[in-house]
Amino acid sequence: MHDVAVIGAGPAGIAASIYLKRAGINVILFEKDEVGGLLLNAHFVENYPGFPDGIDGKKLGKFLKEHLDKWKIKTILGEIKQIKIENNRFILGNAQKDEIEFKTVIIATGTKPQTLNIPGEAELSKKLVFYEIKNLLPIAKPEDIVTVIGGGDAAFDYSLNLADNGVFVELFFRSEKPKCLALLEERVKKCPKIKLHSLLKPVEIKNDLGQLETKFMSINNNHEILAKSDYILIACGRNPNNELLTNDIEKNNIPGLYIAGDVQTGRFRQTGIAVGQGIRVAMEIDTYIRGDKND
Ligand SMILES: Cc1cc2nc3c(=O)[nH]c(=O)nc-3n(C[C@H](O)[C@H](O)[C@H](O)COP(=O)(O)OP(=O)(O)OC[C@H]3O[C@@H](n4cnc5c(N)ncnc54)[C@H](O)[C@@H]3O)c2cc1C
Repeated sequence: MHDVAVIGAGPAGIAASIYLKRAGINVILFEKDEVGGLLLNAHFVENYPGFPDGIDGKKLGKFLKEHLDKWKIKTILGEIKQIKIENNRFILGNAQKDEIEFKTVIIATGTKPQTLNIPGEAELSKKLVFYEIKNLLPIAKPEDIVTVIGGGDAAFDYSLNLADNGVFVELFFRSEKPKCLALLEERVKKCPKIKLHSLLKPVEIKNDLGQLETKFMSINNNHEILAKSDYILIACGRNPNNELLTNDIEKNNIPGLYIAGDVQTGRFRQTGIAVGQGIRVAMEIDTYIRGDKND
């Protein structure tokens, strides 16, 4: 049986895995998508200590992967679908119904994007409608037009990223003023490739004869606006990726089960916090496992 399963190779899961491996504990890291997690969507991370000039999120994600490789941490690509708990042991199952047994588990599954739930959105998702920029950047070409929807940090960061890649951005949000950092708003306002549109709520997405259109209603006067674009990028908040946290797991304080990072931090979603929490639970596990070994 293995000591620790870490589910999610974002900053929290990676930081935990590195700590555990160095402590001589047998760890396996599971990732359903790409090592690096949400960070791979960040344009420019300026507040992670140690990078005074800021760092591209993708590059930071690459450094995290290199750090895992340096310590030869076993990483298995594939989604964990369920956790069964039997006799204080955790049995993880994937889509192929393989089962692996562990003494402890760290859930570091991050967040998933909120959808708008408007007509047309689901059908066009993944082809023309996106929720994470890492999936759109490889196909968007310079001079394309992208409708970005959202008024927070992510929408503004995405818009600047697209503009830096030569794309024209029409950025829409519902409030009078955006809710992002003032510094991002300032940069967006100065960027000739980004146009801001406030007080507009998306109500429908259509793809008529290859022409992608988003219908917006004005919050003030029910006036209708049609925005044509090549792609749509929606950044309207994220929810915890907590499918593995069944009622049973959440209600009971189960020994050997730990949670770290964005999946549990509410609105405090930052790389530094995720890394710190990953290291903290790894230290708790170190004590738990050593205690176990001393029994
Ligand atoms: C546009 C943008 C800009 C940002 N800019 C900054 C910034 O400047 N500074 C900053 O500090 N932070 C920034 N962040 C936030 C930062 O990226 C997150 O706080 C951080 O990535 C959270 O780490 P995490 O490990 O908790 O979760 P995540 O990074 O979300 O990683 C979770 C991982 O778990 C995987 N996973 C989920 N479910 C399963 C499963 N069942 N089985 C296997 N794997 C699974 C996911 O695929 C994912 O890789 C930004 C985020 C965005 C979107």
